Amino acid sequence: METTVLKKIWLSPPHMGNNEEVYVKEAFDTNWIAPLGPNVQRFEQSIEEFVGNDVHAACLSSGTAAIHLGLQLLGVSAGDEVLCQSFTFAASANPIMYLGASPIFIDSEEDTWNISPILLEQAIKDGLAKGKKPKAIVAVHLYGMPYKVDEVHAIAQQYDIPVVEDSAEALGSSYKGFNCGSLGDIGILSFNGNKIITTSGGGAMLCKDRALKEKAVFLATQARDNAPHYQHSHIGHNYRMSNVLAGIGRGQMEVLQDRVDARRSNFEYYIEHLSGIPGITFAMEPKGSYSNRWLTCILTPSFEDRERIRKALENENIESRPLWKPMHAQPVFEDVISYVNGVSEALFEKGLCLPSGSSLMEEDLERVCNIIKKELR
Ligand SMILES: *Cc1c(COP(=O)(O)O)cnc(C)c1O
Repeated sequence: METTVLKKIWLSPPHMGNNEEVYVKEAFDTNWIAPLGPNVQRFEQSIEEFVGNDVHAACLSSGTAAIHLGLQLLGVSAGDEVLCQSFTFAASANPIMYLGASPIFIDSEEDTWNISPILLEQAIKDGLAKGKKPKAIVAVHLYGMPYKVDEVHAIAQQYDIPVVEDSAEALGSSYKGFNCGSLGDIGILSFNGNKIITTSGGGAMLCKDRALKEKAVFLATQARDNAPHYQHSHIGHNYRMSNVLAGIGRGQMEVLQDRVDARRSNFEYYIEHLSGIPGITFAMEPKGSYSNRWLTCILTPSFEDRERIRKALENENIESRPLWKPMHAQPVFEDVISYVNGVSEALFEKGLCLPSGSSLMEEDLERVCNIIKKELR
């Protein structure tokens, strides 16, 4: 008997375009193997052109570094409180801890699965009542779906609290015609290996104020004062992106819209083939929102169904993953104050991220759908 090994289908693998190696080779040929260099500038320019809305981009070593710097630039320091979406990846919240500040986690609303404006305002009012105004808000466009920007930002403005817009998963998404990453006081992007485009590791901080970008770059390059010797008046970081990796980023920007189109078409395929199954639901775009559909997620009828599907896929060499476990339910954040409404816990219980890479073939999608249909029959 012949045994055939089924082709592995990954959740969200890297997908290179045509010119990444050309730009990396340029870095080698010119010996720009240092951090900084022409690829970094060109990558920043192409991000600024794509995102538009007058943003300046500072390329950094990771999205996490971008959140850390962003919060620092907004003045978050030891003892402060920062309101953070609970339903997210831990990297949205960890930098709050790096600064010695305390996160307060805010649960989600059901339409976009992102930060609930109602709970957000509640938390702000409670903070003010105890004489402690939150220093910043971290809101996340999870899985590429824009959060309720108008509502969240109206509250932020009313109480004069700056917003870090975590667009790590949402490059190529937009809200009412404006690209995600350009909407908050500070926006952040990630180019980690699983994101819609990747530099293998990297991130960017976006802001409207050129001086703020320059300050970010200053802090990201060890906060060196302008002197011939090494002199420091501030504590810096080593957070700048390497010129080699920025070469990958330049190539990836050339195919970004293709990657968005491919992921959106994966979503369309899943909708067409799975939405007829009783109990399977998807998060749909509210009017005015455009999601890059970084990952297609389904909600199943129950935890048991979710696990059965996940294991059946795994048995056929297909990677899928439960939705993010909310931060307020993480052991490490056990003692953190949270505003909870049950939404993110239900999503975590019943939700599954399906293979969503931009290089998926129709036959791959068909394999995934057939297994899910079989398990739910
Ligand atoms: C990936 C991710 C980050 C962190 O980005 P890195 O580049 O991996 O440090 C932050 N927030 C969210 C929501 C993410 O998905």
